[in-house]
Amino acid sequence: MSTRRNFLKNSAIISAALSVPASLKCNTASPQTAKGEAFILSTWNHGIPANEAAWKIVGEGGKAIDAVEAGVRVVESDPKSTSVGLGGVPDRDGNVTLDACIMDETGNAGSVCFLQHIENPISVARKVMDDTPHVMLAGDGALKFALDNGFVKKNLLTAESKKAWQEWAVKSKYKPIINSENHDTIGLLAMDKNGDLSGACTTSGLGYKMYGRVGDSPIIGAGLFVDNEVGAATATGMGELMMKTLGSFLVVELMRQGATAQQACEEAVMRIIKKLDYKDLQVGYLAIDKAGNMGAYAIQPGFNYALMKGGKNELIDAVSYLK
Ligand code: ASP
Repeated sequence: MSTRRNFLKNSAIISAALSVPASLKCNTASPQTAKGEAFILSTWNHGIPANEAAWKIVGEGGKAIDAVEAGVRVVESDPKSTSVGLGGVPDRDGNVTLDACIMDETGNAGSVCFLQHIENPISVARKVMDDTPHVMLAGDGALKFALDNGFVKKNLLTAESKKAWQEWAVKSKYKPIINSENHDTIGLLAMDKNGDLSGACTTSGLGYKMYGRVGDSPIIGAGLFVDNEVGAATATGMGELMMKTLGSFLVVELMRQGATAQQACEEAVMRIIKKLDYKDLQVGYLAIDKAGNMGAYAIQPGFNYALMKGGKNELIDAVSYLK
C-alpha cells in the first residue's frame, strides 16, 4: 500500500477514535447562555468572589484575558482560601509551592510551576506569556523572573497554615482527601462581549505533597486549555489523573468533534474511570463552548462551581459519576 493510502487509512482510524461515541448521552441539562453574552465560570465556592472581579471587566466590555487574571488574583490574595496563593497548604516540608497558567483567545499561553514566595503566580504566568518567547518557567527561574519584573518576595505560609501543617506533621499520614474543605484550585473561564474566550488556573496544589511535585494546574492541556474557535476547559482535583489523560485538552478536542460542553466533560471523566484508579479521588471539569454553552462534571459528588451571567452570580452543584 502506498504511503499516501496508509496516511488516509490512519487518518480515518484517528478520526473514528476521536469522534464522540454514539453511546455518549448527555444526562444532564446545562444552563444555556445567549451567543455573544459575556459570562464567567469558575471552580468551587471561591469562584464567587473571583467571578465578581472578572465581571467588572467583561461586564464593562473588557477583554476575557484581563478578566480571568483579575478574577483568580482575588483568590490568590485571600489567606482564607487555603489551596491557592497566600495561605495555600504547604508541601510535606512546610514550603508553599505554587502552580499557575493562563491562556488567551489567540492561543498564547504562559505558565509557572514550583514557584515560591510570590502571592500572585497568575500574573507571573501572564508576564511569561506576554513578555517572553517561552510558555513555562519553573522554580528558582520563575522566582528570578518574577523578582526581576517587580513582583515582591513574600512569606506565603500564614500562621494558620503553619499550625495545620505542624499538626499534620505529627503523624505525616499522606492521603489525599476528596473535597477537603470544599476549597481547591481556582480554574476560571471567561467569554467576553466580543465572544472571545480565555482561561486561568492557579493553585498551591495537593496539600502536603512531596517537595518538587507539580500538578496539572500549570500544564497547558491538563489544567487548562483554550481554543477560541471551539471552547475552553479547566480542571480541579487530583492533578495526576488530568495529567495522565491531558484532560482539559481532551474536553476541547471532544467539543471540536461535535460533543456539547456537557458531553465533553462527561467523556473526559469517563476516560479516567475506564483507565485509571479513581475510587478515592476527585476530578472536576468545567467547559464552555464558542456558542456560550457550558458543561460541568466530576467523579465524586461535592464539586461545585460559580456561574456568572447577566450580572447574576450563582454557586451550582455539579453532577457526578459516583452518586
Ligand atoms: N489540581 C490540583 C493539583 O493536583 C489540586 C486541586 O485542584 O485540588 O495540584
